[in-house]
Amino acid sequence: MSESFTLDQAREALRRIYGFADFRGRQEDVIARVLAGQSTLAVMPTGAGKSLTYQLPACLLDGTCVVISPLIALMHDQLRAAQANGIRAATLTSVDADWRETLDAFRSGALDLLYVAPERASQPGFRDLLSSAKLALFAVDEAHCVSEWGHDFRPDYRQLRPLMDAFPDVPRLALTATADAHTRADILTQLGIPEEGLVVAGFDRPNIRYAIRPRDALPRQLAQLCADHPGPGIVYAPTRRKVEALAEQLAGATGRPVLPYHAGLPAEERAANQAAFVASEDMVMVATIAFGMGIDKPDVRFVAHAGVPKSIEAYYQETGRAGRDGDPALALMLWGAGDFAQARARLSEVDSARQQGERQRLDALAGLVETAGCRRAVLLRHFGEDPPQTCGNCDNCLDPPEMIDVTQLARKFLSAVYRTGQSFGFGHLQKVLTGTADERVRSKGHENLSVFGIVEGEEAALLQPVARALQVRGSLVQTEHGGLALAGDAKALLTGEAELMICRPPPRQRSRKRRGDATPNPVGDPLFDALRELRRDLAAEAGVPPYVVFHDAALRAMAANRPANLVEMAQIPGVGAKKLEAYGEAFLKAIREN
Ligand code: ADP
Ligand code: ZN
Repeated sequence: MSESFTLDQAREALRRIYGFADFRGRQEDVIARVLAGQSTLAVMPTGAGKSLTYQLPACLLDGTCVVISPLIALMHDQLRAAQANGIRAATLTSVDADWRETLDAFRSGALDLLYVAPERASQPGFRDLLSSAKLALFAVDEAHCVSEWGHDFRPDYRQLRPLMDAFPDVPRLALTATADAHTRADILTQLGIPEEGLVVAGFDRPNIRYAIRPRDALPRQLAQLCADHPGPGIVYAPTRRKVEALAEQLAGATGRPVLPYHAGLPAEERAANQAAFVASEDMVMVATIAFGMGIDKPDVRFVAHAGVPKSIEAYYQETGRAGRDGDPALALMLWGAGDFAQARARLSEVDSARQQGERQRLDALAGLVETAGCRRAVLLRHFGEDPPQTCGNCDNCLDPPEMIDVTQLARKFLSAVYRTGQSFGFGHLQKVLTGTADERVRSKGHENLSVFGIVEGEEAALLQPVARALQVRGSLVQTEHGGLALAGDAKALLTGEAELMICRPPPRQRSRKRRGDATPNPVGDPLFDALRELRRDLAAEAGVPPYVVFHDAALRAMAANRPANLVEMAQIPGVGAKKLEAYGEAFLKAIREN
């Protein structure tokens, strides 16, 4: 490299191009390496700002940064955002009509960024094309796709190394949010990046609030969530049928725009629903986990799980789609005892080689659900970090639950399961234990059992939480016909060798109470509302989602500081030179008039 840039120059460019005051997290370390021509693998969580670590050097360095990205939709999102900041960028994909212009621009050195798919990059002619211009950097996005250990192997990524090897002077920057050490090591090898080039950012997403609750009235719980969180949100449901049903119920109950998304919908409908969600400021998407890959929407305010996710990894990835813009966001998991009981029952069908791994996966999830301590700490420890004991931004930290010893009641429940023959569900067992002799109880003769009517008063209210806890920890599993059967440490509980503690269930009222700071946006501020409306108009005019014009944080700062001229406007975080020129006057006018 003939020129060399200092970090101060990079910071100056950060302010000028993006209007951001400073780097976040490990961005600075990654950018320093790239500017020094050193190949790097950056492992950073979603929302940490990975794209900036190649875009900014691409603007400073002489030549073009070639970005390899696996999804066309993702590339076009990135393209839009880069161009909105005045970065000279183009894509070469099967749906682009402007190939000739792009190639001309590339050859004449007029592009900072050229986005291509890995299939393109592995074609023979592509190497010749790259030889025809000056290259600044190779950026390999979603780099875990190169590894068979990752969850998303793409064979074409294996062609990238020979391609990049043909340009030994061009540094490489691989980017991924994938956590595990095995995959990281593999990426380094497969892409020819030295071990010392690994930069791993922390996995914490401090603006996401984690909350985990039993699912006791699903549509009502979700309707409440939608009422408390007016911004865009995603609700993950386990099956297509549940997606359809929930979407309908939520649309009716909340009056908000709600759309479904699952693999059973026609491709055009799926694409249309996804596009509508990306463009919307208030839509709720009810979806199976087929939805989310390749969605780069920064202003998702909540992600709710209507059932237990597959693993902590999956949970982390899915909840990570909330709050990429750094504003407060909520991750709410609504779990059912049956989710665990069924998953544990299915374990016996899994072949023995995989069984242990599957059991650990479930135990880890159960640990997250059952803990009375900090949820974030459980998550971060799972990813090998050493977090503080409390985070101050999860349900348990905000409202520490009281632990109660329910060993006696658990024993009564387990005896009832045992004495009724391990084939009845919760409802029947509850009747037997509380001494409710209905027809079914009498027809089985269960009113004559020693456990009939042994649970009274306050204890009765704890039966359901106790039964849930027993299922989560695997002391009870569900039989084929939906009955409960003893398993795991049930025997140890019955003989007094094990004990059961649970969090005292909060009264319903409290669990529904709104905790105030769900959104930092001012409510009922006419200026803020006017700025949002202007943003909506400008976005529609330009055919981009509103967040491409400005993030909410920028509008909040405008409403609070009321810049009076372009110089003051340039001080607003998120207002770079290009956006100042494109939108500055329009927003100044709105501020003067409101
Ligand atoms: P990732 O690819 O790591 O998921 P993105 O590159 O999409 O994350 O960035 C997430 C958001 O963070 C974007 O909206 C981006 O504008 C914002 N961002 C990135 N870097 C900074 C920074 N230094 N200061 C403020 N906001 C930033
Ligand atoms: Zn916490």
